[in-house]
Amino acid sequence: MSKTVLILPGDGIGPEITAEAIKLLEALRRDHGLDITLEQGLLGGAAIEATGEPLPAETLAKAQAADAVLMGAVGGPQWEAIERSRRPERGLLALRSGLGLFANLRPALLYPQLAEASSLRTDLVAGLDMLIVRELTGGIYFGQPRGIEIRDGQRVGFNTMVYSEAEIERIMRVACELAMKRQRRVCSVDKANVLEVSELWREVANRVAADYPEIELSHLYVDNAAMQLVRAPKQFDVMVTGNLFGDVLSDCAAMLTGSIGMLPSASLDAHGKGLYEPIHGSAPDIAGQGKANPLAMLLSVAMLLRYTFADKALADRVERAVGRVLDQGWRTADILSPGMRLADTITMGDAVVAALAD
Ligand code: NAD
Repeated sequence: MSKTVLILPGDGIGPEITAEAIKLLEALRRDHGLDITLEQGLLGGAAIEATGEPLPAETLAKAQAADAVLMGAVGGPQWEAIERSRRPERGLLALRSGLGLFANLRPALLYPQLAEASSLRTDLVAGLDMLIVRELTGGIYFGQPRGIEIRDGQRVGFNTMVYSEAEIERIMRVACELAMKRQRRVCSVDKANVLEVSELWREVANRVAADYPEIELSHLYVDNAAMQLVRAPKQFDVMVTGNLFGDVLSDCAAMLTGSIGMLPSASLDAHGKGLYEPIHGSAPDIAGQGKANPLAMLLSVAMLLRYTFADKALADRVERAVGRVLDQGWRTADILSPGMRLADTITMGDAVVAALAD
């Protein structure tokens, strides 16, 4: 049955890179049997301009009805003066929570052709392929009580780090299921030497992993995990952690790969529905100039095919096409190195579509 994908171009470079994603999806539909219906909607600054709201009710309804959502990026300087609750980024947060997307998948994958872009030694990162699974709807970012209040005559700020067994269990299951399709190793990151919430996290992690006898589960304290990420990142397959630790570690892992223009992400609900987006923002400094690297967006399409469509063959085909285009020497400005061919956004998208056939 045809699956529906809602496309939300957003702001800045969002529409430019989204156009390349549509081109890719249409080529897959035309030449590779992808049965798909594309719809479009408004989110972020573009939605504010048209409706006054960063997430119009119509967009949320379309997203709830779709099988997957593919988003460019939102935000820009022209909306920074707006009251916080009505800014473009709020639209994205509301969309994530409106869809119940609790599992954030952040691959850190370094194509060997780009190993020199990393701040780490080439031998430490070439061929890096790890996946961080971050819990996205719980933990300290949402825990109650929270606030700033006067205690003993001075202001005190406080938040609450809280996880229920059910929340830990469902994110651990996502991590284990994903690891079963990879190298079957899961590293759970916590701070169980100090935090009770982490003690429970570790206990539930062990219990869930026992259901997956083929999975090798390890545990790291978050401080050690940060060290290991920059010391020897290739030791990891799947890393699973809570909202706060995952926020920090996934950005750290992203930088190991050198360019944020290369990294996709997925946020999934309990039924395989997902929101797919590049990890970068709307890059207003290069918007409208044809300089945006569309590869993070095209690799987000590959994740969509892999996780919502469960079409490994097509996902692999897209990822192979990206590798081939890099082999051909095509580079957008953000990943350009001496001797390579400079591509604008459209040229890069065309090259990936052409490489699909191989
Ligand atoms: P950014 O990721 O937009 O840009 C950081 C730097 O990376 C810029 O120099 C930019 O030109 C470059 N860059 C980013 N993506 C690129 C690409 N595909 N190709 C080439 N270069 C690329 O981060 P920022 O500048 O801090 O934020 C800009 C706006 O984006 C802000 O309004 C911010 O709130 C928003 N933002 C949105 C998201 C999202 O939509 N998920 C994420 C982060 C930031």
